[in-house]
Amino acid sequence: MSDCIFCKIVNKEIPSNVIYEDDVILAFHDLEPQAPVHLLIVTKKHIPSLDLIEFEDMEALGWLMSKVKDIAKNMGLDNGYRLVCNCGEDGLQTVNHLHFHLLGKRKMLWPPG
Ligand code: 5GP
Ligand code: ZN
Repeated sequence: MSDCIFCKIVNKEIPSNVIYEDDVILAFHDLEPQAPVHLLIVTKKHIPSLDLIEFEDMEALGWLMSKVKDIAKNMGLDNGYRLVCNCGEDGLQTVNHLHFHLLGKRKMLWPPG
């Protein structure tokens, strides 16, 4: 999608600090980290939100989920981490390209607020 900031990051039109990349997904540092480690993991395909996943996206999302543990391990998150997906207005989603926040290296809070 031409006006999507994460598509631009995927296409390297906007710079980002990439941690992991393959044909299907990209993981990069969040611009405004909320924890000592704060990555965003996205599908390269533009899927607007968790609410708009289609059957054909299952393989990419299964692949993404299977890679989380490897990315976490590479970031040294041996003591655990949190994976967050904000969806829609109440979920406080601000970028409409499906992404998962990988947060770690501090004790998280629950409920998250
Ligand atoms: P959301 O609020 O949609 O769940 O998360 C969007 C995230 O994208 C925020 O944590 C925000 O800091 C991050 N973000 C927004 N624009 C950019 C950008 O241009 N580069 C990077 N690396 N992160 C961004
Ligand atoms: Zn996009």
